[in-house]
Amino acid sequence: MGLFSNNQEQPRRSGCTGRLLIGAVIAVISLVSYFGTRSANPVTGKVQHVGITPSQEIALGLQAAPEMASQYGGESPDAAGRQRVDAMGRQLLSHSTAAESPYKFEFHLLADATTINAFALPGGQVFITKGLFDRLQTEGQLAGVLGHEMGHVIERHSAQQIAKAQLTQGLTGAAAIATYDPNDPSSRSSAAVAMMIGQLVNLRFSRTDELQADDWGVTLTAASGYDPRAMVGLMKVLEDASHGRSPPEFFSTHPNPENRISRIEAAIQKQFPEGLPAGLKP
Ligand SMILES: [Zn+2]
Repeated sequence: MGLFSNNQEQPRRSGCTGRLLIGAVIAVISLVSYFGTRSANPVTGKVQHVGITPSQEIALGLQAAPEMASQYGGESPDAAGRQRVDAMGRQLLSHSTAAESPYKFEFHLLADATTINAFALPGGQVFITKGLFDRLQTEGQLAGVLGHEMGHVIERHSAQQIAKAQLTQGLTGAAAIATYDPNDPSSRSSAAVAMMIGQLVNLRFSRTDELQADDWGVTLTAASGYDPRAMVGLMKVLEDASHGRSPPEFFSTHPNPENRISRIEAAIQKQFPEGLPAGLKP
């Protein structure tokens, strides 16, 4: 499905050596540009295959945010709910190393009451649907959802997926992104950039990305004084929601909660080898 498809199969074109040669050259250049483009993560310090800057990530996320919101009914009219989501997001941020990062976090409650899901766009735009929000039983679970999504931002998962898409699809996207200047609105008019912004909304992260985001859910809930076992409770909420006629949307973008519980318990054990501190909030 376009720029972010994992499907690497291309239609076969036979009988044209010239085209094959050009294809090979483009493939080599893509490989060189993928493996040559490394940057240190501004929060974790880890070196990643990411070809865009944090300011480009922020701009792309802001560009895609209205499209994301409109797919899920727009911002929720529930003012108290919006306030709770925003306050929790800010609280998690203030207890995180991400607070010193260049990312501009914003936390949105979307009106869609039937979809059970949460999303993150690059650069700090974080969303939870009313459908998931209303099923949460504790503040710790809300912290877990938002912490998980913040993890995708912090780990630059979208930017990594963009780099992978450049690797599989050649230079078209790479060239468009390379010329994309967040401060110059005219560079947004490029069809390739417009397409990329559209695709960000439907971007799927890898299973590894999801488990890494769960680790951040554990880290950030505990850092703000919530019991990270709320993440396990959150998985059970999602499991219960799946017993209805149609499974929650969360499954299409997030791996099966049953498998994640043991990983979350392991992450808690690893982060708190001496046991959890006393006085954590549920
Ligand atoms: Zn996720």
